[in-house]
Amino acid sequence: MKAQLADFIKDTPEGKEAEDIVRRCVHCGFCTATCPTYQLLGDELDGPRGRIYLIKQVLEGVEPTESTQLHLDRCLTCRACETTCPSGVQYGRLLDIGRSIVEEKVARPAGDRLMRSALKHGLTSKLFGPAMRTGQALRALLPEAIRAKVPERRAAGAWPQRSHARKMLLPLGCVQPSMSPNIDAATARVLDALGIESITPPANCCGAIKHHLNDHDAALAEIRSNIDAWWPHVEAGVEAIVMNASGCGAMVKEYAHLLRHDPAYAEKARRIVALTRDLAELLPEHVPTLIEKLSKRQSERVVFHPPCTLQHGQKIRGVVERMLSDLGVEVLPLAESHLCCGSAGTYSVLQPELSKQLRDRKLAALEDQQPELILSANIGCITHLASGAHTPVRHWIEWLDARLAD
Ligand code: SF4
Ligand code: SF4
Repeated sequence: MKAQLADFIKDTPEGKEAEDIVRRCVHCGFCTATCPTYQLLGDELDGPRGRIYLIKQVLEGVEPTESTQLHLDRCLTCRACETTCPSGVQYGRLLDIGRSIVEEKVARPAGDRLMRSALKHGLTSKLFGPAMRTGQALRALLPEAIRAKVPERRAAGAWPQRSHARKMLLPLGCVQPSMSPNIDAATARVLDALGIESITPPANCCGAIKHHLNDHDAALAEIRSNIDAWWPHVEAGVEAIVMNASGCGAMVKEYAHLLRHDPAYAEKARRIVALTRDLAELLPEHVPTLIEKLSKRQSERVVFHPPCTLQHGQKIRGVVERMLSDLGVEVLPLAESHLCCGSAGTYSVLQPELSKQLRDRKLAALEDQQPELILSANIGCITHLASGAHTPVRHWIEWLDARLAD
């Protein structure tokens, strides 16, 4: 598609990037078939091709309206459309540019602004941990809608104390340490069993929450602060930066792109990205050691929900399922595995109806063959699915940690 960019954007880096992306789109519509919001709403403007068209119009100077904003808001940023697109359209990046222009031009109602501000600041605040622990203590008394966002408190267990020559950085995100501290502890224990020491810098948001709520400057400030905190460990020679939440991993892998015009941070960001590994990239080579360490053959029937940030964002597909299967578990097939579960960061709060429909559709597929356990790889998906599941939902690293301890 050709776009004639309007004066306000045509000579900016964002304008040039957006124009390149729009040009690649041949309007074939293959992406529409795999778009969750198009599947639910059946409206062209709630699918990727329609949204690309809306953004193109905005880039060309057409004034966006509340309706434009609504169609862009309804997008989950799941990037299933990128996986499907035969022309390599980087829809996620185009959406970021389109959303920030629309955000500047279309005023939101006060209630919406307040909610977005509360999410932006609340989730990444130091007060989130104490608030979550209070919520967990009073969980039984909470109204259903809030209870769904507050996972049951489970003990994290001991953090390994051994020191190893092999060292990796394990950044703790903003919400995971308080919502499900066992995921980080389980990661450290599994790495310890493999002779790797986890080094944890102070917990901080990766920048995804603010970035996806269109506060790009605040997100960049968080990203720079993370790079500053991680850099001494990079210089000291950590082998990798380990990500156990695929949403954070997908964001950290964008650091080099987001800071490409920042002379003070561009090179550091490239180095950070080169070192960043999701657990699914790190552990497969250790499967033979893990098989030796597992004391008995596994006989569970599990199903794996691949988060969008893993399969579409980081393009890691089928790896965890293969690894679980190599470890002796029966991994059940999953219909519509490409579809988002509706969690999508703050989407479940901002678009609760669509989010719940997607969650229920996903759970019907996941529980279809009565698995004993649902496994996934991202705290947001795990909490969201658990709020409606009849089956326990865990991170796959928690499963592995528990089996190694058996
Ligand atoms: S599949 Fe790709 S090229 Fe085709 S309409 Fe969608 S984004 Fe455009
Ligand atoms: S990111 Fe997901 S919800 Fe948004 S247009 Fe693409 S497939 Fe649809």
